[in-house]
Amino acid sequence: MNTDEYRRWSQAATDWIAAYRNGLREHPVRAQIEPGSILAQLPAAAPEQGEDFSAIFADFEKLVPPGLTHWQHPRFFAYFPANSSMPSVIAEQLTAAIAANCMLWQTSPVGTEMEIRMLEWLRDLCGLPSWQGVIQDSASSGTLAAVLTAREKALDWQGNQQGLSAQPRLRMYYSAHAHSSVPKAVMLAGIGRDNAVAIGLDANGSMDAAKLEAAIAADREAGLLPAAVLATVGATSTGNSDDLEQLGAIVRRHKLYGHVDAAWAGAAALCPEHRGLLAGLEQWDSYLFNPHKWLGTNFDLSAHYLKDPAAQVKTFGSQPDYLRTEDRETPADFSSWTAPLGRRFRALKLWFVLRSYGAEGLRAMLRDHIAWAGEAEQQLASQPGFRICGPRRLSLFLFRHEPEGLDAEGLNAHNARLLQAINDDGFLYLTQTRLGEDYALRFQIGSTAAARDDVLASIERIVHLAGQVK
Ligand code: PLP
Repeated sequence: MNTDEYRRWSQAATDWIAAYRNGLREHPVRAQIEPGSILAQLPAAAPEQGEDFSAIFADFEKLVPPGLTHWQHPRFFAYFPANSSMPSVIAEQLTAAIAANCMLWQTSPVGTEMEIRMLEWLRDLCGLPSWQGVIQDSASSGTLAAVLTAREKALDWQGNQQGLSAQPRLRMYYSAHAHSSVPKAVMLAGIGRDNAVAIGLDANGSMDAAKLEAAIAADREAGLLPAAVLATVGATSTGNSDDLEQLGAIVRRHKLYGHVDAAWAGAAALCPEHRGLLAGLEQWDSYLFNPHKWLGTNFDLSAHYLKDPAAQVKTFGSQPDYLRTEDRETPADFSSWTAPLGRRFRALKLWFVLRSYGAEGLRAMLRDHIAWAGEAEQQLASQPGFRICGPRRLSLFLFRHEPEGLDAEGLNAHNARLLQAINDDGFLYLTQTRLGEDYALRFQIGSTAAARDDVLASIERIVHLAGQVK
């Protein structure tokens, strides 16, 4: 394709995108197709000869939309959001076209320097400690980086050098409500799933400080080596948070490495009234949150902040001859902060989003979502048979429909059928979790396109469908 053809098809793609975004409300939110139906339409082998782009684009229009679950749909209330906004989409188009690999400062200085400045902007907007940041592709990667750094700090970098077999047995503590990426990181770091110690929660839904102290003491007594505490702010199931002030004091007292995963809730710190969630953060070593979740920025962009970047660079850094650049002092070579060598120019989308919305625009979006979640919760709570489970956290609350005459198992089955009915209906999209033995439905608001009417109409639809589930 030459650039004239590119101009034509890029325009066609732009027109398609605008129509798609404008028309999202007309689509069922969750894909309504049978497993295997897309595979059945894709030829078994790649073409030997290049095809005409008009055929490719026509197939795209026919095959792709029905196979999509529409994450940018205004009534997507499932999981946590994977945000996107039009300024961010434009930045992604430009990033793709420029196609620079920003692995070193020299391989595109603007990639590195804009990354530095954007993470400073974000840090200061959120009132974070004056740490340095690096962009990771995902929270999972950031947590893995933190766990590897904690491992190497505890082993004085001998794990990297000698391997783990001759090293003491490490222990890492995480709250029972942590995302699965947290124990997974401990497993992938070679520390062993058995050495990822889940600490139960206290009455406030935080990792229990006394249990953490007891676990550290028992492990020391048994000759094991406590290395890290991995805290959560805004747990995936419930939105609950660990008390960073109280737990941070333990981290410091025991000279452990402290990492905080605030993948979803961290965005709320843009609003001063929600910064209490991060009180005590300065006692920790590593903190991340995902602008790609709730800050209008396309996946993938996780902001990872480090009190002492040198420890992570020492863990990840390697400099073969072919990556050496001239002797000049440069601001950073971010590929030595993270696992992958190659790096996309991700900072551009953050630049576009932060400037287009402005901090006030983003705060307004967050505050709307949180306020609408409060209204939705109240509206549902006022309906007979509905129960809100636990406190609402930011824009997330959990509920159950509990008609009379059903035992515990029957109620769980009824709520699972209600979820199925809601998602088959397609007007909105929800997902579920378990609170102890209880099956509960999660409702969280985070789509950049959501409007108050979408939320309230969705609550009406839930009530209507609950009356029909048998
Ligand atoms: N941490 C928390 C608290 C999450 O809720 C999630 C995903 O929802 C993750 C981590 C994983 O995020 P990512 O997809 O960026 O790895």
